[in-house]
Parts: sequence; structure tokens; C-alpha cells
Amino acid sequence: MSAARAPAGPPMFERIALIGIGLIGSSISHAVRRDGLARENVGSSATAATREKALQLGLVSRAFASAAEAVEGADLVILCSPVGTYARIAAEIGRSLRPGAILTDVGSVKAAVVADVAPHVPAGVDFIPGHPIAGTEQSGPESGFASLFDGRWCILTPTPDARGEATEKLAAFWRGLGSNVEIMTPEHHDMVLAITSHLPHLIAFNIVNTAAHLERVTDSEAIKFSAGGFRDFTRIAASDPTMWRDVFLNNKTAVLEMLGRFTEDLFHLQRAIRYGDGDELFRMFEDARAIRRGIIQAGQDTPAPDFGRGVPVTGGPNALSSKSSEGQGLAPGPRT
Ligand code: NAP
Repeated sequence: MSAARAPAGPPMFERIALIGIGLIGSSISHAVRRDGLARENVGSSATAATREKALQLGLVSRAFASAAEAVEGADLVILCSPVGTYARIAAEIGRSLRPGAILTDVGSVKAAVVADVAPHVPAGVDFIPGHPIAGTEQSGPESGFASLFDGRWCILTPTPDARGEATEKLAAFWRGLGSNVEIMTPEHHDMVLAITSHLPHLIAFNIVNTAAHLERVTDSEAIKFSAGGFRDFTRIAASDPTMWRDVFLNNKTAVLEMLGRFTEDLFHLQRAIRYGDGDELFRMFEDARAIRRGIIQAGQDTPAPDFGRGVPVTGGPNALSSKSSEGQGLAPGPRT
């Protein structure tokens, strides 16, 4: 279900309730206001500091400590907190959801979200889980920006009880935010994301820790020579620990399946190196290179050698990137 952005018109929603106002929640708020998709954004967050910041930045017109209060009267409710909080939040908001409302989320796993949330959804509310495949390793209400979802995919996994017209409306909303939309089952989503996002993050967390534990490579050498591939792993490994802990705890089956396959392939490479099988190494590297070219051809990345990060562009992830090219931090890039 991919399509171009919807033309400007009257707001699609009267009131959107954002439960959690971090990177994703604040980016949704920016894009909703940019494109006039709702009359009002309200929100709830765990800490007073985030609520104050969200009000100060104009991300929401009202900020609540209670998620149940935030969802009252909202015709679109979006869970934007870590996946591990969903079961408790769903139990808290269930009775306050307005009949006819759409309930969705942005969590990076989907089958566990359905299991945690669906039992608390009252009749008359359409529950349509979602996942925007877009992000950076930044967190918090200040880190969001309106163009985060532009040209990215958003996957929706509607529950069997959700009305088709509600799914259509939510798909149109995500197109309005700049995304392309695809519909699939939660289980298929989890398998696809396990290999494209979750396993790469696990590898990054692990390789950065492995380097840190090496006795014969000092920390300063790891930083000094980090252009040799390590730097990109450190960027991914800088991602929010709470979010990623919850991802691995909630997508166990698919991640373990992909980790098993990865380990087998790694042993295959190890064997080729041990026995000096250059042809096999070349063949495997050539296959991997073709996949990279396919990603660029699909418009999901740039062919620039520095992945476009050194180019100072205002707005969007590349704006943050120009900061990293000045050596002030790790280079963010679009991810999930
Ligand atoms: P984030 O920047 O760390 O923000 C998380 C937000 O959730 C904060 O506002 C936090 O409030 C709030 N929160 C935590 N516990 C809560 C609770 N019990 N009730 C209400 N709010 C609570 O995280 P994020 O990167 O936006 O990620 C949010 C969701 O998006 C996650 O489910 C993640 O899987 C998904 N996602 C992330 C990415 C990515 O790249 N980051 C991409 C796609 C999807 P306080 O600030 O007050 O603690």
C-alpha cells in the first residue's frame, strides 16, 4: 500500500494523543503540525522534565502525567514509549479510549505488542499496530524533526477486528507524514526486522564491547583508527539501551532464528579464511556488495562514500549529520 503524500485538506484527526514524547513522538508532532493533519496534539510522558520540554517546544498543547487522561476524547492514540511499557499503558488507557478512536503504536516489534495490547482494547476501537522504519540514535523530545519519516516505510499490522476503513485512514495519515505504507502480519514484520534491524544492532553492541575489552588495543586507538568500519558500529551502538533491551526481550523467536543463521554463515567465513579459500571469500563479498547496490537503487540510502553525512543540509537527518562532520559526536543516520 505505497502511495504519494496526501494533498493538504482539512485535518484528518481532531485530537492526537501521543503516549511518550521522545524522538518518535516529537517527530510525529512536528510532521503533523507541518502538514496540518490534526487540530490538536496532546501527550503524556513519564517524567515532568519531558512534559515541560514538550510544552515549551510546542509539541503538545497539553501534557499529562497520566496516559488515561491524555487519551480522553482523542480520535487517534499513538503509543510512542518503549515497547516494554505497552502492556501497563494499555491496561491504564483501555477504559478511557473513545468509541470510534484508532489506537496504534510505533514499536519496533509487533507480535508481542499485539499480545500485550489487544486484550485491553474495548469494542468500537480499531487497534492497528504500526512501525515507522525511521529513526536515529538520539532520544528525547528535543531530538525529533518533521522530515524523519519522509520517503521511509511505515509497516502496519492491522488486527483482525480492525475495520478496513480505519486501516485506510491510518495508512493515509502515514502517507501524510511523508512515508510509504506496507501492510503485513505481525509475525512477518518481526522476521523481516530481526534481520534488517535487530541483528545489526546486536552485532554493533557486541563488536563495540569486544573492542572495549581488548587488552592490547587501547581506547584511544579504537577511536583514532575508527574510520576503519568501527565508527559506524559505534554510531549504531549509541542507541537507547531501554528501547533495545525491550526489542530483544520482545522479539526473541525471530532474533534467535536470525542469530542462528548468522552464526552458521560466520563459521562458513571463518572456515574460508582458515583454509585460504579466496574464491569463496570473494564470492561472498561480491554477493554482499550487490545487496548494498540494491539498497541505493531502492532509494533507501545514498551512494556517497561517507553515506552523505559530511554534507551540511538544513532539516532532516543530514542536518544532524553536519554536526558529526565537525567531530562533535557520532554520526546519526536514518534507522529504526
Ligand atoms: P525516546 O526518545 O527514549 O522516548 C521515549 C518516550 O517514552 C519518552 O517520552 C519517555 O518519557 C516515554 N515513556 C517512557 N516510559 C513511559 C511510560 N511508562 N508512560 C508514558 N511515557 C513513557 O524513545 P523513541 O526512540 O522515541 O522510541 C519510542 C518507541 O519508538 C519505541 O517503542 C521504539 O521501539 C520505537 N521506534 C524507535 C525508533 C528509533 O530509532 N529510536 C525507530 C522506530 C520505532 P520520559 O522522557 O518522561 O522518560
